[in-house]
Amino acid sequence: MIDLSLPIEQLKSVGPRNLPRLAKLGIKTVKDLLWHFPARYEDYSRVVSISEIEPGQKVNIQGEILKMSSRMIFPKRMSITNALVGDETGAVKVVWFNQPFIANSLKEGTLVSLAGKANLDKHGLYLSSPTYEKIQDIEFKNYNLTHTGGLIPIYPETEGVTSKYLRFLIKPLLKDLEVPDPLPEGVVKKHNLLSLSKALNKIHYPANNQEAETAKERLAFDDLLLFQLKALLERRKLNQLKSVRVKFDRDLIQDFISRLPFELTKDQKIAAWEILKDLEKTYPMNRLMEGDVGSGKTVVALMGAVQVAKTGYQSVFMAPTEVLANQHFQTMSELLGPAPLRELVTLSHENNPVLERCGINIGLLTGSEAKLNDKILTKAELKNKIAEGGVDIIIGTHAVIQKGVRFKNLAFVVLDEQHRFGVAQRAALVKNKEIVPHLLSMTATPIPRTLALSIYGDLDISIIKEKPKNRQKIITKVISPSQRKTAYKFLHDEVSSGRQVFVVCPRIELADPTKTTKGRNGQSKMNIMWAEVKAVQDEYKKLSEEVFPDLRVAMLHGKMKPSEKIETMEKFKNKKYGILVSTSVIEVGVDIQNATIMMIENSERFGLAQLHQFRGRVGRGEHQSYCLLFTSSADKNINQRLKALVECDDGFELAEKDMTIRGPGEFFGVKQSGLPDLAMASLANIELIKKARLEARLLLKENPNLDNHPLLKEKLDSFQRLTHFE
Ligand code: ADP
Ligand code: MG
Repeated sequence: MIDLSLPIEQLKSVGPRNLPRLAKLGIKTVKDLLWHFPARYEDYSRVVSISEIEPGQKVNIQGEILKMSSRMIFPKRMSITNALVGDETGAVKVVWFNQPFIANSLKEGTLVSLAGKANLDKHGLYLSSPTYEKIQDIEFKNYNLTHTGGLIPIYPETEGVTSKYLRFLIKPLLKDLEVPDPLPEGVVKKHNLLSLSKALNKIHYPANNQEAETAKERLAFDDLLLFQLKALLERRKLNQLKSVRVKFDRDLIQDFISRLPFELTKDQKIAAWEILKDLEKTYPMNRLMEGDVGSGKTVVALMGAVQVAKTGYQSVFMAPTEVLANQHFQTMSELLGPAPLRELVTLSHENNPVLERCGINIGLLTGSEAKLNDKILTKAELKNKIAEGGVDIIIGTHAVIQKGVRFKNLAFVVLDEQHRFGVAQRAALVKNKEIVPHLLSMTATPIPRTLALSIYGDLDISIIKEKPKNRQKIITKVISPSQRKTAYKFLHDEVSSGRQVFVVCPRIELADPTKTTKGRNGQSKMNIMWAEVKAVQDEYKKLSEEVFPDLRVAMLHGKMKPSEKIETMEKFKNKKYGILVSTSVIEVGVDIQNATIMMIENSERFGLAQLHQFRGRVGRGEHQSYCLLFTSSADKNINQRLKALVECDDGFELAEKDMTIRGPGEFFGVKQSGLPDLAMASLANIELIKKARLEARLLLKENPNLDNHPLLKEKLDSFQRLTHFE
């Protein structure tokens, strides 16, 4: 058995100079080396006779060094090594640049295997700087080659660490490799999987593509199984916790619905029902509500909060930004009835249908504001009220609410646009209490079901697909540079006739992209932020001074104070501006009924799902709305991608496409999560996910603490530390 935890400095072939370089790739132990999977393979599986070589081909030939010489070319200060290699069918020239040592290593008479590209020049055919290795076999049999025969692994590399060097390190480890397999033998057999040792062998050196796939499948299965185990264990932990049982009051809810200024869609009703049923349980709800932008998630969540308030408990809504918190506060206040009246509710609500359902106090708490119903308070005052139980529904930003707010009896937490909220964070909200709140997350990024199943296996999911009846189809167009003028004229006409326009710009790419990687965290984040601000400022200047000097243009970006942002949004809502230029902050949630055009600069820089979200910001009112995707890219693939938006307005379908195009890692923004690419890629493999799910269930059923599978248990522990989809 190989010792996986052995530090690589103890391998003979790793010198001190290479240690930090390998560490850059995350390679510190033998295990890291073995788990450094190829990004792809170079196919040298067919040995070509020298007489068959054609120019332009990548070939593997095997033969004898017939001639060898090396010389310097002085004006250029480079060395050229020339060789002639022959097999039974003929001979071919080989050229290497700046590798004079090859002449010593491959003396005349040496048997070699070469892999590289064949070129043709005026002197004839030659192989250009091929990879080489010596072979012993007189018969030139293609066996056990590391660099030049079969499918050759090409690894993720870094400065000073080439694939060749990695192969040199990894290949010897694979010989007679035996690693402990955490998967129970029964599972391996049942699903016809490779053993771990075999899979590792085959993923580095497969005999063919089929073998590479089987190896990947086995290794992906491990990750998927861990995902599922983790999810099931979290779910089990959750079900052992206590939360408030909020009884469903049919009359109350029906009354609330009947007073809404619109008819709920069927999907909204189903989601509300699922939420209200969850609230009745004695263990905490853990639900994700997914629905396209504008599908009306807020009102559904509010129904839960109303039920909670009427049962005598508190709810909290957390929004990702102050602008959104503010907007939620306004929308919900309206849905609950006019604020001034709500205060009077205890005095009298006879004959007043609005008042009857009120008596609900709603508060807003952000970094810059504190409000209770229609009154402005200090933050301290509001916090006191919350602690006393004088506020039923509290709306705020994540940051504010997670820090330093004491609740009297919090029973329900609603998270808007944040994917994940751990058990620990949930518990922190009700510090030192035995009762944990029910949790509802809402997102407008439709997460494909397969993906949700695999990484959110511990969540229940409600999906709102249907849009409210009054929504219109938004006309989407890709605008090329030659159409820009016409598009501007169209914008001008719309604004002149009273409509409003959003302009979104991606950040300007930094002149020197290497700078972003240097200062890693703090600095690069700052750079990104500034690059975004700069993009907005430039666009603002251009539009307000050159393109539309006669229109009122405003801007919104991350470097503005929260109060300035709110003021700008407020003014835009009140039609003080015709055009709002912003960063992607308006991506989520903002509701401006009079805005009819969403114009996106350099739209090719955004993902499909994100563009779809931008588009959802318009088309909320009665007027026909438009989404204009500006791009100056002539790339066919990009235009194809943008076209998907023109043709399709189903967020779920677009999300699936987006995931296929960019891969689950990119789609989810978890490139940095520490997960190997293979695990990420496997998140889209439905069949495998289903198998993993089944096995996870069975394993835990037979063996609730996995005590019979110590290796698996250990692996799960480190996996849990590794993966956090916050
Ligand atoms: P999102 O799902 O994007 O968060 P919101 O909850 O903000 O959407 O709803 C968008 C707008 O649609 C709000 O003004 C809301 O009051 C309204 N709305 C919600 N449900 C319906 C419905 N069934 N019919 C008409 N309008 C609705
Ligand atoms: Mg919303």
